Amino acid sequence: MANIKKLSEQIANQISAGEVVERPASVVKELIENSLDADADEIEITITDGGKELIKVKDNGRGIRRDEVELAFSRYATSKIEEIDDLYSLGTLGFRGEALASIAAVSKMTAKTSYQDEEKGTKLVLHGGTVQTRETIGFARGLEITVEDLFYNTPARHKYLKKTTTEAARVSRIVTAAALSRPDVKFTLKHNDHTTINTPGNGQLKAAVYSIYGDEIYEQLIPVEFKENFISVTGYLVKPQALRSSRQHQFYFVNKRPVYNKYLRLAVEEAYREMYGIKKYPIVFLNIDLNPILVDVNVHPTKREIKFSRGKDIKRTIKSNIKDILQQNGKPTYHSYTGKGKHHDKLDYTRKSRPKSEQHKPVEYLPSRLDLTGNMIKEDSRSDRPGPQGPQANITDRTPERSDAQSQGQGSKQVQESSPAERRTVIGQLHNLFIVVESEDGLLLVDQHNAHERIIFEELKEKIDTKTNPSRMLLTPISLNLTAQEKEILLEIRSELEKIGFEIEEFGPASYALAAVPFFLPENAPEENVLDIINHLLETTNMTEKSELVDEALKYNSCRKAIKEGKRLEHQEMAVIITRLFETSNPYYCPHYRPIILDYSLDELKQQVERYE
Ligand code: ADP
Ligand code: MG
Repeated sequence: MANIKKLSEQIANQISAGEVVERPASVVKELIENSLDADADEIEITITDGGKELIKVKDNGRGIRRDEVELAFSRYATSKIEEIDDLYSLGTLGFRGEALASIAAVSKMTAKTSYQDEEKGTKLVLHGGTVQTRETIGFARGLEITVEDLFYNTPARHKYLKKTTTEAARVSRIVTAAALSRPDVKFTLKHNDHTTINTPGNGQLKAAVYSIYGDEIYEQLIPVEFKENFISVTGYLVKPQALRSSRQHQFYFVNKRPVYNKYLRLAVEEAYREMYGIKKYPIVFLNIDLNPILVDVNVHPTKREIKFSRGKDIKRTIKSNIKDILQQNGKPTYHSYTGKGKHHDKLDYTRKSRPKSEQHKPVEYLPSRLDLTGNMIKEDSRSDRPGPQGPQANITDRTPERSDAQSQGQGSKQVQESSPAERRTVIGQLHNLFIVVESEDGLLLVDQHNAHERIIFEELKEKIDTKTNPSRMLLTPISLNLTAQEKEILLEIRSELEKIGFEIEEFGPASYALAAVPFFLPENAPEENVLDIINHLLETTNMTEKSELVDEALKYNSCRKAIKEGKRLEHQEMAVIITRLFETSNPYYCPHYRPIILDYSLDELKQQVERYE
């Protein structure tokens, strides 16, 4: 065994670099934090090859004094803390004095800087943390750091870098988070000469969101603002139409710092799940301001994960407020004329053009008539012939007793606003599109297609959950003409497809055919409609998690089966739709998360005719 020796500064820096610098994104994060700490209001980030080749961060902050430049790149050098007590009152993002030294230790770095009103600037070049050259230069106020060949001298780390697109995506997420956390700062990100992020820096979160996410998300934003006890929250969530299948687009900022925290995440996700009963993830941009005493930021060296004392209280407060806000939004209300909508800038429930899937010509086997003499909406007579699974009813043969039980349970439980026995009277139909209903406290306009879609979806879902064999064998198998990529997807989702009732047969190494289809497709369903569903599933799997395929298939099918806009309905039919609708788990949104009901309270209507009493 060798004698004990003190590590050289260079080795020590390389070791600490391992903690601070994992990949290009962590370099970018540290440099951005430094720029923000230096009060920059413009930060320009440039990367090539995902940052593996080059990372440049340029700011217009305070800059570094000529006589302190070398110091800034040595370990434990920081201008942000002098005594250990400062740790608790710190407003800055970094204070360990490690980042610059660590990054310099594992790269070839060039720093150009000029401090406040010093006349000249400095250019410093370091390789592996050792100063190569120092020059005096003319340079505008601020700091520009260029990091080249990250991990060139630590091959073990270099090996762990991922492919360009992966590293670039990580950098992009860091910059996105920073830009959203500080809408008052103008951020730009360029990757291989393409500008991918460019925020206005005008102080408005909404504007930053718009510049990054575009108008599609922008239009779905729900403003959030509340203050309770020690916690104050502002920002935006999204309407349930804009949910995503991953958490990638959730941003939480605690005291302006992008963070991960389990309680925050659960607060928001549980609120959505309880409101809408769905498994997808909301897009989240939330600023949470808390007394810093409750926050322990530096549990993790890269400061992403934070801990709260009173985490559970924080979660409870946020969750219940968010549920209130979603509730307001989940039950669309017409507020725009009074501007009194607490949480809405303006509500726009005008009909958007339908997604492509719905614009197809009506499918052959759709019911052309709703037979609603009893409780049942039956299929068109062409498919009325009882098959192995009985008639292909859109609406099941539920007994009335059971419906009552349901309306008292599920319907009101999830939506939490309709009392069990709320009275609703159908008044009539509006332009063959809306069902007009008098409710206990006002007026409902119910979109007939969206409502029917929700009803069918839940019926099918219940059937699929209770059926032991969801398949219907075909007399002649339907062969599938698939591209190589589609075949791959097919194999990947095969077991899910079989859960829904498809049976896939292999003919030779690369040909497939359907031997059975789900029970919810009628026996005489034309081949192209079956293929249509398969194709739809193959197309959506990229965005959909496997477990959601069943829902996806049902949604697709419900949408195709539901009565369309333009269809004249009998009074009885409308009555059944309304009753059934309020028995579902969410009468307010269709499975594609489009609103079903426009809800006008009597108070609002009275206000509009200026009747105040
Ligand atoms: P820390 O941020 O923890 O203090 P760093 O190694 O990141 O440690 O930075 C060391 C010091 O260099 C900082 O304390 C600051 O004084 C100075 N510095 C770093 N980046 C900038 C910048 N963009 N503008 C001005 N000064 C900077
Ligand atoms: Mg720092």
